[in-house]
Amino acid sequence: MSVVEAARRHAREVVAPSVERWEREGRFPRDAVETAAADGLCGLFAPPEAGGQGLTFAEGMGVFEELGRADASYAFALSMHNAVTTVITRFAHDEVRERWAGPLTSGRALGGFSLTEPHAGSDAGAITTRAEPDGSGGYLLSGRKAWVSLAGEVDVFALVCRTGAGPGYEDVMVVALAADQPGVRVSRLYDTMASAFLPIGDVELDGARVSATEVIAPPGAGFQAALGAIDVARVDIAAISVGLAAEALEIALRHAASRRMFGGVELDLQAIQFALADVETDVVAGRLLYRHAAELLGGPEGAVAAAHAKRFCPDAALRAAVTCSEVLGAYGWLNETPLPRFIALAKMLQVVDGTTEIQRVVIARELRRRAAALLGDRP
Ligand SMILES: Cc1cc2nc3c(=O)[nH]c(=O)nc-3n(C[C@H](O)[C@H](O)[C@H](O)COP(=O)(O)OP(=O)(O)OC[C@H]3O[C@@H](n4cnc5c(N)ncnc54)[C@H](O)[C@@H]3O)c2cc1C
Repeated sequence: MSVVEAARRHAREVVAPSVERWEREGRFPRDAVETAAADGLCGLFAPPEAGGQGLTFAEGMGVFEELGRADASYAFALSMHNAVTTVITRFAHDEVRERWAGPLTSGRALGGFSLTEPHAGSDAGAITTRAEPDGSGGYLLSGRKAWVSLAGEVDVFALVCRTGAGPGYEDVMVVALAADQPGVRVSRLYDTMASAFLPIGDVELDGARVSATEVIAPPGAGFQAALGAIDVARVDIAAISVGLAAEALEIALRHAASRRMFGGVELDLQAIQFALADVETDVVAGRLLYRHAAELLGGPEGAVAAAHAKRFCPDAALRAAVTCSEVLGAYGWLNETPLPRFIALAKMLQVVDGTTEIQRVVIARELRRRAAALLGDRP
């Protein structure tokens, strides 16, 4: 069975039947993650010698579309876990890799990515979490991180911080921070629009220690390293969005093809056919965009391709969830269909890993470069 087929089975047999219960219980399903790991879903891009699948981004990205069909929050958590697992198994010091590779790829440990701060989201160069040298090559961290997904569940963070006062990027670094140490504390958990089982909150750092070997990207290299990981995550989110839209479409098709009205079924109405035709175009276009971006990740065109996919797919997912809910009429209002949850999740997908506007900023920066080249070409 391919890893994408394994993800389809995991989504259908583990996630979809349990997600309502997870929501009710408000507890992150670590046992489900361990099941996912047994199917190879926790170390997709990690090398085989580290316990991973060693897939290229193009080979593994379909996993996130499959997971997105069942639940975008759970898929997002696995996206972040895989991003951190990839970074640690590919780029961290041998000591850190040896400590974390097995636990992360087996799903026994969870990885989290922490960049955002209360005052610094899109403007990531404004972060102020400070890394003070401890005199032995390591650092003591102080500051407050916000929007930390899996807060309280994460075992190791890929955490972005800086050695100076900022703002800017020159002294930004990425460290592997073990979460179970003095000086790391979840200080607040948020009450969010959906996904009660995905804890998100603030993490307070007060003298938390990282050794010299726990520095993944040193001061100066940290911002580019973080952006590289975020580019991959943007394509994951695009794939999750396509999964959400495709699932919404199937729910609407099943309903419209069986809902009797005006002497036929709802799907006989051309207005309904046209609405669903537009959703299908979005699904097909979104799939092409995320697959194209996955091929280009790591190369010079990867960041812009990721931005195109992340710009388009979550918006398309929201349109799909709203349109498909309308096709169900009043039944789209019932929580017994996943469509109300899908609408909230599509809103989340628009924001995580860089908002839709920030993707436009990335694309427009490339357009400005092209414009400058066009003007430069003039005689
Ligand atoms: C469910 C969820 C989980 C998250 N998990 C994590 C996590 O695990 N780790 C982590 O580090 N972060 C996480 N985040 C944070 C997320 O990455 C940020 O919320 C996101 O980058 C936007 O930052 P902000 O919320 O501070 O918005 P702001 O940066 O304050 O932006 C506010 C608005 O202004 C717009 N805007 C900003 N800049 C521009 C511009 N230049 N041009 C035009 N419009 C602009 C934005 O699009 C947005 O609409 C999570 C967020 C959510 C919602």
